[in-house]
Amino acid sequence: MIYLDNNATTRVADEVLATMTPYYREHYGNPHSLHALGRRAHEGIEHARDELSSLIGGAGGDIVFTSCGTEGNAIAIRGLQRDTARRRIVASSVEHPSILRLLEWLAGREEIELVLVGVDSSGQLDLDAMERAVDHNTAMVAVMLTQNETGVIHPISEIARIAHSHGALLLVDAVQAVGKIAVNVDDLGADFLTVSGHKYHAPKGIGALWIRTGVRVDPLWLGGGQEHGMRSGTESVPLIAGLGAASRIAKERLGMQSGVAVRRNRLEREILGRIAGTTVNGEGDRLPNTSNISFRGLLSSLLVGALDERGICVSAGAACHSGLVEPSGVMKAMGKAFEDAVGAVRYSLSRDTTDDEISETIGATVDAAFALSPTSASV
Ligand code: PLP
Repeated sequence: MIYLDNNATTRVADEVLATMTPYYREHYGNPHSLHALGRRAHEGIEHARDELSSLIGGAGGDIVFTSCGTEGNAIAIRGLQRDTARRRIVASSVEHPSILRLLEWLAGREEIELVLVGVDSSGQLDLDAMERAVDHNTAMVAVMLTQNETGVIHPISEIARIAHSHGALLLVDAVQAVGKIAVNVDDLGADFLTVSGHKYHAPKGIGALWIRTGVRVDPLWLGGGQEHGMRSGTESVPLIAGLGAASRIAKERLGMQSGVAVRRNRLEREILGRIAGTTVNGEGDRLPNTSNISFRGLLSSLLVGALDERGICVSAGAACHSGLVEPSGVMKAMGKAFEDAVGAVRYSLSRDTTDDEISETIGATVDAAFALSPTSASV
């Protein structure tokens, strides 16, 4: 099996699992109990908080452990105490559904005024439109650090400048960036930053939201007051310890990402060189591990199925609903032609992906594309 769907989720690293296990078997106390087992659990949480903080920076704020990236985004958006005069939220048109669907729902209830800022065909955000969209009625600007389908890196510090010059706060969804590129909340100018463990070799079910000190946020629910009162409920100590370990390892191994980029670039070069009608979606600064390639005239789900039969896991941009093919919202936002948009396939590598796996994937992709559409044979 060759796994190139690491933007969907990653394998839990062995060291992460090893860090978690004692918290199930030995240090299983409630972190708020006063006895020794409770104290050990509490120390495990605070150690993990330090490890994550060492990865993303942010002495000027607090880390709240959450269940996932979706929850972190929801706390920031729903919890923010907004001045009644500031009804506007500005977001990019390529945000993850955990942000876009929530903002659309709030706008539908007339709780906010939503303004979306578009991207061009290369995935670059329209900064002039951002300048025009943010005004003194804007409560929040939400822009992801890196786009999950294309890997395009957004100019967050520039966006922070625009947001802050109007007194608005900045939510940075860094779910796809943490562990793959250097992330520092202060360099970015973030007021909120969301993290999800399963995207960088921690388990599913654990994430974090960093909140700058002084930003007023209400919790989504009340109870025992855990996590600075922001997320009541007994903490999952093993999962939190796993997130901490994954953060420490990600920091230690960030240097491996240049090798990941070399492998990703070879994958793209060879596929584009050998298969007619292929193009890369997303230009400029990109995540080192992500490649989104359109196979013009091929349906991405068919290509994903053909690669799956050959033991290779990748993901399709387009979805089929009731027999109709629907390109992804991101491809639509980039204004891609329909025949390119429905043929978009994402290959997402991990730091463990080998040269041999890339060679096999290139061969299998060429075979599969040719089998599905003989006219796509070598350019
Ligand atoms: N934000 C981005 C950019 C993502 O790619 C994802 C997941 O794919 C999420 C948020 C949601 O993360 P989670 O699955 O942890 O809820």
